[in-house]
Amino acid sequence: MTDKILIINFEEIYLKGKNQKIFIKQLVRNLKRKLVNYKDYLNFSKAHGGSYFIEIIKEIPEKTLQDIIFKVKNTPGITGFYVADTAGITLDEIVKKSVAHAKRYSEEFDSFAVIAKRINKAIPFSSMDIARSVGSDINKKLDKKVDLTHPDFKLFIKVRGDYTLIYSKIIPGIGGLPVGTSGKAIAMLSGGIDSPVATFMAMNRGLHITVAHFHSVPKTSLKSIDKVKMLVKKLTDYQGQIKLYLIPVLEIQQAIAKHSDSRLRLILLRRMMLQIGEKLAKEEKAKALVTGDSLGQVASQTLENMKATEEATGMLVIRPLVALDKKYIIETAKKIDTFSISILPHDDACSLFTPKSPETKARLDYVKEQYTKLDVETLINDALKKAETVLITDNDDISNDIFINHIKP
Ligand code: ATP
Ligand code: MG
Repeated sequence: MTDKILIINFEEIYLKGKNQKIFIKQLVRNLKRKLVNYKDYLNFSKAHGGSYFIEIIKEIPEKTLQDIIFKVKNTPGITGFYVADTAGITLDEIVKKSVAHAKRYSEEFDSFAVIAKRINKAIPFSSMDIARSVGSDINKKLDKKVDLTHPDFKLFIKVRGDYTLIYSKIIPGIGGLPVGTSGKAIAMLSGGIDSPVATFMAMNRGLHITVAHFHSVPKTSLKSIDKVKMLVKKLTDYQGQIKLYLIPVLEIQQAIAKHSDSRLRLILLRRMMLQIGEKLAKEEKAKALVTGDSLGQVASQTLENMKATEEATGMLVIRPLVALDKKYIIETAKKIDTFSISILPHDDACSLFTPKSPETKARLDYVKEQYTKLDVETLINDALKKAETVLITDNDDISNDIFINHIKP
């Protein structure tokens, strides 16, 4: 018999009609990939009403269970889940296992309620019998009092076909939509605070993300690339596996510095970035670009500048942070655990290149005029020829050594 069962809940709203099938199929595919290292312990069962069951089919070390819980918790599409104990369908065993389950949480509650349900109607005792027997044992053995209206602790007992589920605390998930259900996008990731949050938010709306990072090595250090890899590694906690493109832009920067109005440098560079992003999108069958722009956050993030930048591409540019306060962005960065990486010192491709007084209200016709002075096509193709790709997954541990080497917080 199975030892434990993860009862996974998802947002009801997405479970209407034929979307339900697509949603669950993608969610299970994502979970299987993330949990591949633990597959000997697991049986991916099927949907039961609004829930999906993963059975733990043999005894599992606590550490391994915690690793699995971490992965499930961070899988987009899951609103929350229970780690249920299982028992047979005799009253004795149900009581024994229920008390053992409650005992594990006994530090956390004084009052409790038992909510019992019998789906298997053939068993010779009622839901009331279960609630009464379990309730009185918890009361006696753990010295807790029954409170049916405002209990600190709710113990759920469900007798299904030939087994019983016993569960209590819900572990909250991150919600959202399963990665992949909304299609694919290319996220532009710098080493800063904002773009990792934007990337996460896009993933959490069901987009499968490929990351593009632009660097100016050897003008900038290799450490800044390690930092980006660390950020991507962290983001694999959510998506499971991410392809990272590392694109050198030093030559593009030099061309821009040589041929154009210095006030427009950043805008011209961003235009090239978007156009490169567009080429990657074709390659990856992605339908949008994601950036971490936030309106008014820095003097250059104005409507005029955003327009003058995105005009370079015909692609949809998604800016999840556009209307969010910095405070909220930082809170989210902390929640998804990218903040501590983002604040590590680094030299980025843009800061070394920023003019003394960058344009804050770019005029589109002037930007376009300056842009045509550059041999855009050649510059972009050269950069792409020199681009490298790295596949980063949540399951390989060696990456830690590779990445942390150079960077000491
Ligand atoms: P971040 O905190 O993400 O660096 P920011 O507030 O510093 O953003 P900008 O430097 O104006 O803002 O960059 C705006 C957006 O352009 C970034 O959020 C990111 O999506 C993209 N971007 C900037 N620099 C790079 C880079 N070197 N590689 C990839 N994308 C970049
Ligand atoms: Mg930045």
